[in-house]
Amino acid sequence: MTLGLFLGTLLGAMSLGVPIAFALLLCAVALMWHLDLFDAQIIAQNILNGADNFAVRYLVNDACVFLEKPLVDGSILLFDGQATTYLPGKGCYRCLYPTPPPPGMVPSCAEAGVLGALCGTIGSIQATEVLKLILGVGESLNGRLLLYDALSMETRTVRIRRDPNCVVCGENPTVTQLIDYDEFCGTAPAWNEG
Ligand SMILES: [Zn+2]
Repeated sequence: MTLGLFLGTLLGAMSLGVPIAFALLLCAVALMWHLDLFDAQIIAQNILNGADNFAVRYLVNDACVFLEKPLVDGSILLFDGQATTYLPGKGCYRCLYPTPPPPGMVPSCAEAGVLGALCGTIGSIQATEVLKLILGVGESLNGRLLLYDALSMETRTVRIRRDPNCVVCGENPTVTQLIDYDEFCGTAPAWNEG
């Protein structure tokens, strides 16, 4: 997770009240450092992910599927951002991206750069999604991927759907427990990437 996205999200969540912000903080820290996922389950009912590497992104997705927790996912790069919400039984990150890109194909935020203000924009959208889930109001981004172009200041949403052949949330899942995500993504352990 980039520090900017995390802080942006945290600041957005703090406007909702310290307890929620604290829960998001603890949950993010727990998932970032591979702590007991069931500790994270106790801390928060909704998981918010802003990891900037694929290993952690797949790890958080799979954990949310196994724990049947909503996952509010966000990512940013350069001047573009995107966000969506995966609800239990209604699709997951792997439905959209079954396999990670080859190592080195997609540059990280540290390598390619990112517009700082974009962190707060996408983070606030994620915080809004979490609030809506908690309050049970509005229409979440489940089934829709929100795309944000900071240069044109335009947004659009595209329909996404659950893949019945998804290896994690499909009809006949073959991945039923956490795996070695660094090996899966062909990357070095996330905590060594800086
Ligand atoms: Zn899936």
